[in-house]
Amino acid sequence: MQRIAIFPGSFDPITTGHVDIINRALPIFDKIIISVGSNSEKQYFFSLEKRIQWIKKVFIKTPKIEVKSYNKLTVEFAKESNARFLIRGLRNTSDFEFEKTVAHANSELNPSIESVFLLTQPKYSFITSTLVREIIRNNGDYQKFVPNQVVID
Ligand code: ADP
Repeated sequence: MQRIAIFPGSFDPITTGHVDIINRALPIFDKIIISVGSNSEKQYFFSLEKRIQWIKKVFIKTPKIEVKSYNKLTVEFAKESNARFLIRGLRNTSDFEFEKTVAHANSELNPSIESVFLLTQPKYSFITSTLVREIIRNNGDYQKFVPNQVVID
């Protein structure tokens, strides 16, 4: 049976922290579906099209990676993608507390989907999409924190 995982997130925009988690998850799974949230209740800084386009460019040479958008419960999306694993990255204790609650809820909703957590490398632990957006808004040097493919015009 193929080990398919989803990596859900907003990726608003994708950062070097996300890329590191994905690269480190690659040897563990046969396929990773980067699942870009498009929740109509949520305000995003970048359009869904841009967020997806950047991720696709980053992983263009990685056949194990698929990029899809979704607008439903994450466990529902995992199930319809035949994914048994849900990847999340952990930066600190507040990520841990938040992710623990979500993982417990997800496991009540669908016990056959296993949440898998990867710890950030210390050098990426302060990087968040929120920080990157703040730097972009203030015309700062955001490029250190995002993959080269993220170009804002
Ligand atoms: P969400 O809005 O669902 O939290 P994000 O795009 O902010 O979406 O994050 C997606 C996942 O990537 C989350 O599990 C988050 O903890 C993880 N992540 C984000 N930044 C980093 C980082 N610098 N190091 C490790 N994991 C990260």
